[in-house]
Amino acid sequence: MATILDGKAVSAAVKQEVKTEVEALKQKGISVGLAVIIVGDNPASRTYVNNKKKACAEAGIVSEEYALPESTTQAELLGLIDTLNKKDSIHGILCQLPLPKHLDEKAVIAAINPEKDVDAFHAVNVGHIMIGDYSFLPCTPAGIMEMLKYYNIPVAGKECVVIGRSNIVGKPMAMLLLQQNGTVTVCHSKTVHLAAVTARADILVAAVGIPKFVTADMVKDGAVVIDVGMDRDENGKLCGDVDFDAVAPKAAFITPVPGGVGPMTIATLLKNTVTAARKVCEKEL
Ligand code: NAP
Repeated sequence: MATILDGKAVSAAVKQEVKTEVEALKQKGISVGLAVIIVGDNPASRTYVNNKKKACAEAGIVSEEYALPESTTQAELLGLIDTLNKKDSIHGILCQLPLPKHLDEKAVIAAINPEKDVDAFHAVNVGHIMIGDYSFLPCTPAGIMEMLKYYNIPVAGKECVVIGRSNIVGKPMAMLLLQQNGTVTVCHSKTVHLAAVTARADILVAAVGIPKFVTADMVKDGAVVIDVGMDRDENGKLCGDVDFDAVAPKAAFITPVPGGVGPMTIATLLKNTVTAARKVCEKEL
């Protein structure tokens, strides 16, 4: 049976480091601030935003919520971002995705000052990640790397397979594994013989968005299995992209859902926010 990679425990350690740094910045006169924008009333987005605000409060980060109605126009949203870009007490800006269909996500991400882009979605930050010279790392992939480090799971030389190529998870995940000298394959909906590819993986990351998509036959004995999925099963219960009960007996390590990758994503967001504030502090000195 696999060892469970406990995202709650690892994230608690990260959050404690963040809290210490937030207090140190406070001593220097900087109160770390995060603006959280949510547009519309998507219940999943509301849950994510509430969790992020709660984590900020626990770490001593001031979070300001901007809850905008579904009818918000592109100009109104960009106007708010412009105001927050200029607001000194705000070090990080997060716009919860997905946005309602009539809003242009790409333009919204591009409008955020890269120095306040704590999600690391802006093309400038994505470019920095590509060349391995960055301030912020995207929260979910960076949280996963942190978890691998915590459990002393080596990446160098390992066969790493990422299922999913989204800009927020799959692609940056592949990049971070590559930077740690993994041999990386990225799979997607057009991949043929997917199970044959995933069965080669020493480290398998599933970021697909389909409940229990990864079955035991797709996993090598002794693999490290990272489940990014936040899905609902046939009974409406939260589950991941991995069929946990079937895969866990084969794997060496596995993340549960909930309690695996999710808490690490939030911890990394806090870390990025404090990094943004520290950079402001360093500029001022
Ligand atoms: P996404 O943008 O929908 O991307 C899904 C990816 O899966 C796409 O690249 C897609 O391929 C691929 N895919 C779909 N069907 C496939 C198939 N049959 N075989 C192989 N690949 C397939 O999703 P995302 O934003 O990356 O999120 C993925 C999951 O992670 C979701 O459940 C989401 O809720 C969750 N998530 C969790 C966290 C967290 O903190 N735990 C953070 C972010 C996301 P194509 O590119 O070819 O379409």
